[in-house]
Amino acid sequence: MPRQYPIEKVRDFGIIAHIDAGKTTTSERVLFYTGVSHKIGEVHEGDTVMDWMEQERERGITITSAATTCFWVPTYDKGNKGNEHRFNIIDTPGHIDFTVEVKRSMRVLDGAVVVFDGVAGVEPQSETNWHYADEYNVPRLCFINKLDRIGASFERSYQSILERLTPNAVPLQIPIGLEDKFEGIIDLLRMKAYHFEGEKGEKMTEGDVPENLKAEAEKLRHDLLEKIVEKDDALMAEYLDGKEPALADLKRVLRKATIGNELVPVICGSALKNKGVQLMLDAVVDYLPSPADLPPTKGTNPSTHAEEERHPKDDEPLAALAFKVAADPFVGSLTYFRVYSGTLSRGSYILNSTKNNQERIGRIVRMHANHREEVEEIYAGDLGAIVGLKNTTTGDTLTDPEHPIILESITFPEPVIDVRIEPKTKADQEKMGIALHRLAEEDPTFRVSGDPETGETIIAGMGELHLEIIVDRMKREFGVEANVGRPQVAYKETVKGSAEAEGKYIRQSGGRGQYGHVWLKVEPMERGAGFEFIDSIKGGAIPQEFIPAVEKGVREALGRGILAGYPLVDLKVTLFDGSFHDVDSSEFAFKVAASMALQEACTKAKLVILEPVMKIQTIVPPDFLGDVTGDISSKRGRIKAMGERGTVRVIDSDVPLAEMFGYSTALRSMTQGRGSFNMEFSHYEEVPANVAQTIIEGRKK
Ligand code: GDP
Repeated sequence: MPRQYPIEKVRDFGIIAHIDAGKTTTSERVLFYTGVSHKIGEVHEGDTVMDWMEQERERGITITSAATTCFWVPTYDKGNKGNEHRFNIIDTPGHIDFTVEVKRSMRVLDGAVVVFDGVAGVEPQSETNWHYADEYNVPRLCFINKLDRIGASFERSYQSILERLTPNAVPLQIPIGLEDKFEGIIDLLRMKAYHFEGEKGEKMTEGDVPENLKAEAEKLRHDLLEKIVEKDDALMAEYLDGKEPALADLKRVLRKATIGNELVPVICGSALKNKGVQLMLDAVVDYLPSPADLPPTKGTNPSTHAEEERHPKDDEPLAALAFKVAADPFVGSLTYFRVYSGTLSRGSYILNSTKNNQERIGRIVRMHANHREEVEEIYAGDLGAIVGLKNTTTGDTLTDPEHPIILESITFPEPVIDVRIEPKTKADQEKMGIALHRLAEEDPTFRVSGDPETGETIIAGMGELHLEIIVDRMKREFGVEANVGRPQVAYKETVKGSAEAEGKYIRQSGGRGQYGHVWLKVEPMERGAGFEFIDSIKGGAIPQEFIPAVEKGVREALGRGILAGYPLVDLKVTLFDGSFHDVDSSEFAFKVAASMALQEACTKAKLVILEPVMKIQTIVPPDFLGDVTGDISSKRGRIKAMGERGTVRVIDSDVPLAEMFGYSTALRSMTQGRGSFNMEFSHYEEVPANVAQTIIEGRKK
C-alpha cells in the first residue's frame, strides 16, 4: 500500500509536563478532538485512553512511552480533507522517577508541546525536561494550561518561562479573562478572539477582539511581529517600510525560527474546561517540524566505522531505531520503533546492527487511541510497533542488511537507589526471577542483581517510587508477592589520583602450573565518564589471546568494589606491561593477576566513596523558612537559591540522597502540613571523610 500521508504532513511530537500540569487531560482532549476518542474520560474516573496500565490509573500518572496515531485538519482549513495531518504522539511520563522515559522519547520525537500549570508556572521538573529537550535540540511550543484555576496568571507563567527556561519565548495568544472568568483566547497573529462552545468545547467560534483587551493585544502583537520579522531580512525590510506583513509570511518565518530553536511560541488554555486545545493542535501543524524539516540522521557504518547519513526518504536504505520494548497484554511483546529512512515491511529480514543479529519482521501495528491497526509497511518519518521481536532491546538500530548503520543510541542514567527483595513464598522464587528479568528488559534504568554472598536479590532504580511501582507490577502482572527491605543508597567508589601496580599469579610447583603477570595503571576520569580499558601492550609481552581475560579480571574486580564493596566508576585502566609462560599461562591466571593488580593500583591511587546528590525544591509558607533551611543545612545540604512565589517561599538546594529518606514526613511535621517538595537526581559527589568512615564500617557489619 502506498504512503497515505506525504511526509510533510506528518508530525512526530510529544506532550511534556511536570506531574499534575495536565498532560493526561490535554492528551485526552487531543484524542477527543482528533476524533479518535469518542468519549471524554476524566482522570479521576480512571478511564483515560492513554493510561492503559492499571496502576497508572490508580496513581494518576503516565509511565509508559507509547506512540499513538491520530489525524488533524487545522481548524482554519476546516473540512479540507486534503490538508489532514498524521500525528504520532509519543507519550512521555510526568514523574521525575521516570526521566528515562522522557529521555528516550526525546530521542525519537521531532517536536514537543510543553504543558505548564498556569498557577505554578515553571516547576523544577519542567526545568529538567527542558534541558533534556535542549540536549536533543527539540523544537517546542509552550502551552500554559489551567488558566481557569484560582490564582492562574498567563503573564506570571510566561515570565517564569522567560526567566527560567528561555529568553526566546514569545506569546502567540493571550487569555480572555482568568480563573472562573476565563472564557476564550485571542490569537495575536490573526487578531481574532476564539470561544469554545458545546459540552466539550467542540464548537469553536471566531470573533472580534473584545474592546477592553484591544490595546493590550495590539501592543503584544507589535512585540511579536518585531521578534518574527527580525528573523527574516526580506520581511524586515517590508516591515520597516511600514507594510503590514502577510499572515502567511509571518507563519512561515515563525515556523522556521521555531524549528531552528530561535523562537518558542507560547499559547494557552484550559484542557479541563475544553478551551484552547484545538488551537494548540493548529500550532503543532503550523510550527512543529515534519520529519522532512530536520537535518539527516547520523550514524556509524559498523564495518568501516565511518560516519554516514540517512535522509528521511522512503527509497533510501532502511534505518530505524527501537525506542521501547513493552509487554503487551494482547500480543506479548511490542517493540516500538521510528523509521528514519527507507521503509520497514512486514515479512522482511532486517539486521539489528547494534547486536549484529538478523531478525524477521512479523506483524507490524500502529497504535491508535482505541484500536490497533495492522499495517504492511511503515515509511520514513513514521512510527509503529513490531509484534514479538526476539532479540532487540531499547536503543538498537534496525537496518537494511546490505547497508548497515548504527544510529546514536539512547543513554540512560545509572540507578541511585537499591533494595533487597525476596518472594513471600519459596515457590515464587523462580517466578520472581522471570518477572524481574522481563521488567528489566523494558526499563533500562531498572537493574536486577544477586548478592554473591547472601544469594539475595537486589533491585535498583531511580527512586523509591520507581521501585515501588516495579514491585507493584510484579504482583499485578506476574502474581508474585515479595518482601521488600529498606531502600539503600547506591554508592560508588572511585580513585582520586593515578597509580601503577603489578599483579602476579604464579603457581609452579607440581602438576600443571599457573602463570599470569600484568602491570596496570589507573587514572581518574571525570564524573559520569564510566570506565575505559586501554590495551597498550607492545612487543607481545602478553599474547593477544589473554588480553580479554585481563579486561575481564579488571571489570569483575571493579564490580566487586574495594573500599566498601561498591562498584568503581569514572576511571581509566591501562594494561601496559606483563609477561607470560609458554605452558603455564592461562586465561584464569591472567584474570586473577589483573584483579590483584587493579586492587593494589586503586588502593595506591587513593579510593573515595561517591554518593548521589539530589536537586531539591522545597516550597513553604514564610513562617517556616528558618526551620526548613536549618534542616536542609543539617542534612549536609547546600542552599543554592531562595525566592518568593506569590505568598510562599521557594528554596532550591542540593542534598545527598542518603539524608533524604523520610523527608516528606519530616517536612510535613515541620510546616504543619503546609510545605511540599520535589526531588530529582543531580549528580554523584565525593562523600566527606567522616561520612565515608561510617559507610565503610556499616558495610563491614
Ligand atoms: P498530569 O499529571 O500532567 O497528567 O495531569 P492530569 O491531566 O492528570 O491533571 C492533574 C489534575 O489537574 C487533574 O485533577 C485534572 O483534572 C486537573 N487539570 C488538568 N487540566 C486542568 C485545567 O485546565 N484546569 C483545571 N482547573 N484543572 C486541570
